[in-house]
Amino acid sequence: MTVLMSALSWVAYQERLQDDSLVLLLPCGALEQHGPHLPLGTDALLSAAIAQSVATNLNGLVAPTLSYGYKSQPKSGGGQHFPGTTSLDGQSLSQITRDVIREFARHGVKNLVVVDGHYENQWFLTEGIDLAMRELGTAHPLSIMRLEYWDFCTEETLSHVFPDGFPGFALEHAAVIETSLMLHFCPDLVALDRLPTIAPANFPPYDMYPTRTEWVPQSGVLSSAKGASAEKGRLMAEQLTESITKAIRHEFSSVQ
Ligand code: ZN
Ligand code: MN
Repeated sequence: MTVLMSALSWVAYQERLQDDSLVLLLPCGALEQHGPHLPLGTDALLSAAIAQSVATNLNGLVAPTLSYGYKSQPKSGGGQHFPGTTSLDGQSLSQITRDVIREFARHGVKNLVVVDGHYENQWFLTEGIDLAMRELGTAHPLSIMRLEYWDFCTEETLSHVFPDGFPGFALEHAAVIETSLMLHFCPDLVALDRLPTIAPANFPPYDMYPTRTEWVPQSGVLSSAKGASAEKGRLMAEQLTESITKAIRHEFSSVQ
């Protein structure tokens, strides 16, 4: 049975919605440089892959990914100066989010999970959710969970993935976590022979506008992905799927 909403007819979709335990997952990514070794769609591909594996654990359906995200920031995604990075204004992202949530609510969706794979999206997704909820009113039965998937990594998983100590999520752009997950989910899209070996970027505790592109490593990678492996990707994917599934079962009363 497919978990893809886009593969269903409206009739089949409506039938699935008769069951109150249905969970709709909305993956959100970006089209953003991810170094010379990972594809531009990495954040969209990973949020969709994780949403799909969670959906198979539940009575889940995955909506088409929001594949463009908010502007890449130098200290978290390398910045906007790379070819390929294609971003939305914050208001555009918030409004697309609001619009699709309003449509899902009209269909009768009661359990929605927004699965974010691009750090810079988070407040604009939050704004879209808030605008939709305000419009729907408090009597509407829709509940929404918003999450950034990496926040579900446990200490134990991180200690396996980073045996020499976890440097923190801040510089994990196109680095060990994303490269390992891509080696697990989409191995054909990873160019391991192009993996840059660099020292972690060292940013000051402030931002400058126009962007100081010279702060950002030329490769676009913010710390080395040298320790990445498909095995680490599998370990993370399994633990993330299990933990996200558990949180959904905990928060949505109609979901077992
Ligand atoms: Zn990313
Ligand atoms: Mn990103």
